[in-house]
Amino acid sequence: MNYTTFGDTKERVSRLGFGCMRLPTRLGQDGKEQVDEEAAIEMLRKGYELGINYFDTAYFYHGGQSEVVLGKALQGLRDRVLVSSKCPGDRVKKPGDYRRILEEQLTRLGTDHLDFYHYHGVSYDGFMEVEKRAGWHAEAVKAKSEGLIRHVSFSFHSEKPEDMIRLVDTGYFETVLCQYNVLDRSNEAGMAHAKAKGLGVTVMGPLGGGRISGLPKELIEKCGIEVSASAELGLRFVATNPNVDILLSGMSAMPQLLENAATVSRLTPLSPAEHEGIVKMAEEMKTLSDLYCTGCEYCMPCPFEVNIPFVFEQMNYHKVYGLTELARKNYAMIGKMPWFRGKNAAACTECGECETKCPQHLKIRDQLKESHAALG
Ligand code: SF4
Ligand code: SF4
Repeated sequence: MNYTTFGDTKERVSRLGFGCMRLPTRLGQDGKEQVDEEAAIEMLRKGYELGINYFDTAYFYHGGQSEVVLGKALQGLRDRVLVSSKCPGDRVKKPGDYRRILEEQLTRLGTDHLDFYHYHGVSYDGFMEVEKRAGWHAEAVKAKSEGLIRHVSFSFHSEKPEDMIRLVDTGYFETVLCQYNVLDRSNEAGMAHAKAKGLGVTVMGPLGGGRISGLPKELIEKCGIEVSASAELGLRFVATNPNVDILLSGMSAMPQLLENAATVSRLTPLSPAEHEGIVKMAEEMKTLSDLYCTGCEYCMPCPFEVNIPFVFEQMNYHKVYGLTELARKNYAMIGKMPWFRGKNAAACTECGECETKCPQHLKIRDQLKESHAALG
């Protein structure tokens, strides 16, 4: 594993972070999906054995189960790893809420402190709103002085990339978590600013939802890239950025963990020619499709049970990778098998709720219609 110093926090962190938002799941006796505790704990402990020391969860991940399972997995290891979680701003209505929620999270995790506590998914205005109504930062300072949290952080979601700079300039934060990959470089300036101000920088979606690794051979060659090197290029692109410390990957299966750990352990910087090639490839892909859904699931749940990320994943198979037959087959299975859960795009009532939550700002309603026309 590769390690780095996490900004002015001086913590030594593994460059691969374990995101706990997509732990393995199975159907419970009540027919509802739940974290497969045994499989998740095995993966998390394997992650530790492979050298990962940064584990990231949140109040809402897996309906709260993520924190509980992570706590169980880290029993006996707690003092050897760094645990990060997040405070849900929409639950912080008044002074005292922050502290109550933090204490609930510590109980779930079975620990007496968090190493990094993020304000979850904030824009500048969103943060200031909660600050005004509930005095959030004063509570964070108090919690830190009492040793309940060690570092104050924020995770960033905003339509305005310049918001990150404004948030950094409040001087409140020690680390930031944001979206970044070769197809979404909108946070590059904010990340550089954060780094210059001494913050540690973690990025999510470093592989762009895996889209970099499955491109047609012809496209890769056209961009002057060796086909054999293409699978790792997306990750190396992100890791080569000197303003990135941790690549956070939400991992849900053991082979994925093993592959990511091996890749990050042998990371070499991109050569200028490779850098040019991958940027060109990203531009080519944009012309192939404007459906760059990362599968982050922030739009979920849909009140009408449309499985938005799965529909868009099939549309990307069809549009970007030319795997139309597979895409249609998978689309037809939605709602018919337990692991193809939810409903297809025809169930969309166009209520618009999902679009307010999508960090990629996708026109979900329009793209669902397009998807159903192509795959239904
Ligand atoms: S717009 Fe459609 S997909 Fe989005 S939340 Fe509403 S019903 Fe669900
Ligand atoms: S539609 Fe947007 S929010 Fe939903 S999974 Fe895709 S990128 Fe994420």
